Amino acid sequence: MNSTEFIPEDEGACMLSASKSRPAIIADGDWEERYAQRLGDYLREGSPVPQPYFAVVELTSACQSACSYCDCWRSAGRHLSFENMNRFITEFAEIGGKHISFGGGEPLLYPRLEEALSVCRDAGLSTSLSTNGLSVNEDTLGRAAAAGLSCLGLSIDSLRPEVFAKLRGVELERVLRSAEILQDALEDGPTSVFVCCTVSALNVEDLLPVLDFAERRDWGVIYQPVHLSRRQRKNRSWLLPDEPALQRLDEVLHAIAKRMEQGAPVHSEPLYVQRIADFFRHRRFRFAPCLAGSTTLYLDLDSSLKPCIVLPRIARFQGTTLRAFRESLRHRTAGQLMRRTWCPGCWLWCYANDNIRWASLIGLPLTEGIRGGR
Ligand code: SF4
Ligand code: SF4
Repeated sequence: MNSTEFIPEDEGACMLSASKSRPAIIADGDWEERYAQRLGDYLREGSPVPQPYFAVVELTSACQSACSYCDCWRSAGRHLSFENMNRFITEFAEIGGKHISFGGGEPLLYPRLEEALSVCRDAGLSTSLSTNGLSVNEDTLGRAAAAGLSCLGLSIDSLRPEVFAKLRGVELERVLRSAEILQDALEDGPTSVFVCCTVSALNVEDLLPVLDFAERRDWGVIYQPVHLSRRQRKNRSWLLPDEPALQRLDEVLHAIAKRMEQGAPVHSEPLYVQRIADFFRHRRFRFAPCLAGSTTLYLDLDSSLKPCIVLPRIARFQGTTLRAFRESLRHRTAGQLMRRTWCPGCWLWCYANDNIRWASLIGLPLTEGIRGGR
């Protein structure tokens, strides 16, 4: 399989919005320690594979935004079958899952979102989703919060209207109004909020102001470099920082790392943030062995099971159960290949940040896995 097959072409899932939410709330106190122990035993001694704890469920391809780095909005919106989603959630909880991140498209456009959240809550799973902010109102938020949404991400790449419009194709003001509604509707409630900021050539100077914006509201921030398909890289190369811009990005990331040391609410491992510029320099870049094949599951819009958002389908959910899938040779082989050579590496937040986190908890060496140039 050659590396160009790994970043999905323009149809289908938006890998950015689908991948930006991560378990912010896993209530079980020492769960992380126990899970790291089991992962470590599996990797070092070949003990049974631990159950995946994190799943991304792609709810819809519908979206009213028009982001420059995503083509989701160009296709006719389709929704995931509610029956398949319902079964997936139930079985994911049964095999020991902890958290589901709902992606898209724009997850708030999924007609049965509230029911999906309630099914998760009743099954004991925490949930997150990221929104472009265009469907946010008191009613949708109130209902999502009441249905048990644990964590909501709002995408803001810039606080400069012209930059925001160029990156996301809509007016900043609409999203800022949503931010106000969010603040009022969710204040003191159980749903936590974070800002998702996609880093590209256009918004290097916006990263610190976005952090200030979030910190003033007591929200978190997630930074993630823009990921483009091979086709997108050809006609949207203006989104990729050149070397002078990367040097400036390194300075800004350094300043963010300093702010993190002082307690700024960036929901990432410091190493993940610091190496964002290096991801742009060396696109085939990875740092820790990718554990996503063991720790995560991905259900796409067509009810297919994928090893991660980037790699192709390895099974159809219809006709199998999660327990059978998890125990299948196909799934185990995918996990082993992902740790070694199957992909060129990505710097998607929910995978790369997690890999660094697990590797450090397990005590795996972090290697400079730069493989090939841009
Ligand atoms: S908000 Fe932007 S990145 Fe997210 S699905 Fe819509 S077009 Fe894609
Ligand atoms: S590093 Fe892991 S999550 Fe990222 S593309 Fe490769 S296999 Fe998928």
